[in-house]
Amino acid sequence: MKIYIIGASFAGVSCGVHARELYPDAEITIIEKNPIVGFLPGGLLLYLQNKFENLNDAVFTTKKQLEEQRINVKLSETLFDCDPEKHEITTSKNTYHYDKLILANGSEQKSLNIGLEDDDEWDPSFKNYDLSNKILAQIKNASTIAIIGAGQAGMEAASTFVDLNKTVHLIEAMDYPLFKYFDPDFLKPFLAALKKTPNVHFHFNTTVTEVTKNEQYEILLGEQKIASDHVLTTVNVHPQLAKFTKKFKLHSDNTIQINDYLETSAQDVFAVGDLIHSPVRIREEGAYLPQINHAVRSGVVAAENLLQTQMKFKGGLRTIGTKVFDWYLASTGLIEEEAFVYSGEVATKSFTQNASLVDKTPIYCKAVFEKASKKLLGMQLLSQTNCLEKINTAALAIENEVTLAELMQNDYFFQPEFTNVMEPLNRINMGSETRHAF
Ligand SMILES: Cc1cc2nc3c(=O)[nH]c(=O)nc-3n(C[C@H](O)[C@H](O)[C@H](O)COP(=O)(O)OP(=O)(O)OC[C@H]3O[C@@H](n4cnc5c(N)ncnc54)[C@H](O)[C@@H]3O)c2cc1C
Repeated sequence: MKIYIIGASFAGVSCGVHARELYPDAEITIIEKNPIVGFLPGGLLLYLQNKFENLNDAVFTTKKQLEEQRINVKLSETLFDCDPEKHEITTSKNTYHYDKLILANGSEQKSLNIGLEDDDEWDPSFKNYDLSNKILAQIKNASTIAIIGAGQAGMEAASTFVDLNKTVHLIEAMDYPLFKYFDPDFLKPFLAALKKTPNVHFHFNTTVTEVTKNEQYEILLGEQKIASDHVLTTVNVHPQLAKFTKKFKLHSDNTIQINDYLETSAQDVFAVGDLIHSPVRIREEGAYLPQINHAVRSGVVAAENLLQTQMKFKGGLRTIGTKVFDWYLASTGLIEEEAFVYSGEVATKSFTQNASLVDKTPIYCKAVFEKASKKLLGMQLLSQTNCLEKINTAALAIENEVTLAELMQNDYFFQPEFTNVMEPLNRINMGSETRHAF
């Protein structure tokens, strides 16, 4: 069996590695347009934080490691066309015939219509290795950087640059950052701290209308104008819409339509990772979930289904965890602001707990749950101590439709240096609830 995979990032690599385990005799080839495999999307920031010696060390696997598993890797080669009838693909270098094809060519961040976008010399995003490498020197030399988009990537970039003593302008159309994952009321302590952070200027409720370049970049925000040495966009990603992807049935948001088993509209062609619209475990309609864990799991499930459809893809919960401006933030499942997407009535509980009996740093917690059944639907955590791992337990509880009463009895370890008398998830069932207005 000849398996061809397009894209050597999280979805493609995890599919290839699992396919190797499942089909020892298959010939597996991954085709990647970049010169390296497995580049981390935040690799540029990690390199600037001195977490890696070289930019090309910011990877989660290497060509050599994949080849040791008998996976062929073709780098700097781009898929141009695909003929599903003939089971044929054409790349920048060759034509190949496949038995099974997995599209794992992911997403890009370029979506703003801000003037310079058409200029070949200027691409303000940094998700892949080539772009990160290209803008590295400019970033290092810049003393002022404008960032467009205050989602996870934008906040991580802003935090990194402030640590490097740069002045940052963070521009966001919404009225607060990280809006996909947190309710605005919940972020109050964090937002209050951000206001006092030196060298960072937040422009919320603000849209960039144009970017021009003279000696510096000039960013027009309606009447206001900002000058900066560099501009980065960290807006939402969207699927890489190459010519060949248009040969498959697409949703209106340009994601590739797949069935429960990740098969596309063409026989023997699967789509995974940031290309697809996925089931979300707490809502009836699916959503676009451009996240690494989601990409990896979809790659693994596609490998399971190559010979026969045997494993449904369950989708995800949009679980995130990050550290920005010395705060740890984590979220999973439904937030109160989007309660309207849930078919039942929703209620919430918010409380604060010290990290442990020794570490008195508060952990702010907010739980979202179904009013009638008291099933947990979502959880948000915020602290200046590392509480991120707790979000995974909340995600597991949501996935298993656990109620607050059941969570109250869940067994956690106690050790005064690391825990409080009660774990946040044990506590959710206590205290008064806030009924959601919808
Ligand atoms: C700045 C930034 C930081 C992020 N940080 C996080 C994080 O911390 N945690 C998290 O969960 N998510 C994060 N994300 C989201 C995450 O990057 C994506 O969800 C994930 O990379 C998707 O993996 P994928 O394999 O589907 O696609 P991608 O990672 O987009 O990979 C697609 C691959 O296909 C290649 N390719 C594309 N077209 C072709 C072609 N025609 N021929 C050959 N090769 C092709 C590309 O070069 C690329 O290597 C971040 C995103 C950004 C932009």
